[in-house]
Amino acid sequence: MKLKLAIQKSGRLSEDSIKLLNDCGIAVKNGGNLLKTSAENFPLEVFFLRDDDIPQYVQDGVADIGIVGENVLYEKCKDVAIVRPLGFGKCRLSVAIPRNESYNDVKFLQGKKLATSYPFLTAQFLRKHRIEAEIHEISGSVEIAPGIGLADAVCDLVSSGSTLFMNGLKEVEVILESQAVLISQERLDEDKVALLNRLLFRINAVKTAKKNKYVLLNAPNDALETIFSLLPGMKSPTVLPLAETGWSSVHSVLPEEEFWEKIEALKHAGAQGILVVPIEKMIL
Ligand code: ATP
Ligand code: ZN
Repeated sequence: MKLKLAIQKSGRLSEDSIKLLNDCGIAVKNGGNLLKTSAENFPLEVFFLRDDDIPQYVQDGVADIGIVGENVLYEKCKDVAIVRPLGFGKCRLSVAIPRNESYNDVKFLQGKKLATSYPFLTAQFLRKHRIEAEIHEISGSVEIAPGIGLADAVCDLVSSGSTLFMNGLKEVEVILESQAVLISQERLDEDKVALLNRLLFRINAVKTAKKNKYVLLNAPNDALETIFSLLPGMKSPTVLPLAETGWSSVHSVLPEEEFWEKIEALKHAGAQGILVVPIEKMIL
């Protein structure tokens, strides 16, 4: 028995999805024109699909789990469970208007025509703000719609904003902040749940590792007390005596977000020869 995973065939989520599996020690290649492939060393079958189809396939149980952007997931309104966010494919669904228009608030959109590939989320946003506007659904190249006179505004995915800029548009409202998420069918049988948990265990180890750094430093013994108070560690720091008497080597783990502050404080407390090493996997 294999767990069936649906990922995007080719597009912005493909590479990161494959990379995540590889980081989890699961050997999968993006197989060119392949529709599906089996992992070599984990009971996993991977389907390569258009991202838009993934929620439906997972809902219907054709795939057990899938990787898809929240934007697509919420637009499609399928009955699937979100297992965990994955931290890649970050973007936002935003309203943009021609740059030369002045904009105060959403009332600008009243009576206007909006082009989008996200009619459901756009309509929901307009309803919430009690705006009546016409939604014109198009499947791609939404950003050119105002330039060719098809619409007054767009509702489209933005990450850096450079595509909007190149098309003479400016972002005025964010409808949704999105990232890739792991989704699963609502009612997986027990064996599949067990496989999903094995996969999740690995994903958690990879993600936790990315958020932390391994730190090694040397310090005079009389500074150790202060240095310990600065280090969270997993349990407590490892301390080894150095050849030079009165000095120790301290090993510990630091979360990425407080990293620089801690390093400064450690230096200040007397730490020297600080080495920082990336962690590949971390099991708590
Ligand atoms: P498909 O052929 O699979 O339907 P697509 O053209 O719909 O592909 P992509 O452009 O590859 O999709 O984007 C896939 C997903 O990547 C989006 O749904 C979104 O979740 C995420 N994404 C991240 N940044 C961006 C961005 N700047 N523009 C579009 N999508 C982005
Ligand atoms: Zn798509």
